[in-house]
Amino acid sequence: KKDILTVENLKIYYPLASESFFGKGGVVKAVDGVSFTIRENEVFGIVGESGCGKSTLGRGLCRLDPITEGHVVLDSQDISNFDRKRMRPIRKTIQMIFQDPYASLNPRMSVFDIIAEPIRIYNLAKDDKELEQRVIDLLRRVGLDSYHANRYPHEFSGGQRQRIGIARALAVEPKLIIADEPVSALDVSIQAQVLNLLNELKKDLNLTYIFIAHDLSVVEYISDRIGVMYLGTFVEAGDKNKIYKNPLHPYTQALLSAVPIADPTLKRKRIILEGSIPSATNPPSGCKFHTRCPKCMSICETVVPERYEPSPDHYVYCHLYDDKMGYKND
Ligand code: SF4
Ligand code: MG
Repeated sequence: KKDILTVENLKIYYPLASESFFGKGGVVKAVDGVSFTIRENEVFGIVGESGCGKSTLGRGLCRLDPITEGHVVLDSQDISNFDRKRMRPIRKTIQMIFQDPYASLNPRMSVFDIIAEPIRIYNLAKDDKELEQRVIDLLRRVGLDSYHANRYPHEFSGGQRQRIGIARALAVEPKLIIADEPVSALDVSIQAQVLNLLNELKKDLNLTYIFIAHDLSVVEYISDRIGVMYLGTFVEAGDKNKIYKNPLHPYTQALLSAVPIADPTLKRKRIILEGSIPSATNPPSGCKFHTRCPKCMSICETVVPERYEPSPDHYVYCHLYDDKMGYKND
């Protein structure tokens, strides 16, 4: 399969709001050196606690947030330095779906106008008749009906609103969809329906997804590959099955220990992490996870771990694997 998106050492820093505990001039290193590649028609899951930088990463890839350093290459085109004008056609290729569909849908617009807006902006329908037909087709694609077109967002349930958000994202026929916690605000039963819909759409329309979540069980269901994010970087990433069968990073192990498993013989011991994610303005030295890691060693406090690849398409950054890297004692 062809690579569709390559992210190289991406950094997104922003200045801290002036009056704060950390004083003036602080910099939030929300995304601090992330690299990955996504192939066509695959789902890349990004998972981590709130505050790890995953939403900023998603917004940065669509260039909604400015990039500080690094590269985003879409279909062999480096878009990291594109201005608004050059991003316009790109926004047709990459679309975003958000956690709270209510906040992202204009309450004063009818569902018809919400979905029609991007079609109008990009001149994708030759006349009103075609526009109407497109909107109705999109509604049906996401499991809604033509009579929903004249209603307003507040008349819908959370799950239906997310379907409207998805229809709107699909209106410009994107290739890549960045979904930022698209089911986190929904009831569990509704979550499954929306995930199934996303899966079907992916197959039918040959879409590629970046799927952002704080919950590994949601990501497990939908993803082919996964990046586990902590304080702005991936601590472990690669093939989903490898990571689920053999999680190497203590952070991945802790996240995974919270996922319910169907097979009762496979008991996992729940690992509870103390405290919350430290500030991205003043991240811990050495391994950024060391302040919360149950396996922390003294080296972890000062030395940044190197990348260890136990097999192709699986890597981890953790000193527990230093002796396996071979070159360490040369
Ligand atoms: Fe824990 Fe050390 Fe590994 Fe970091 S490098 S995850 S602190 S064992
Ligand atoms: Mg978020």
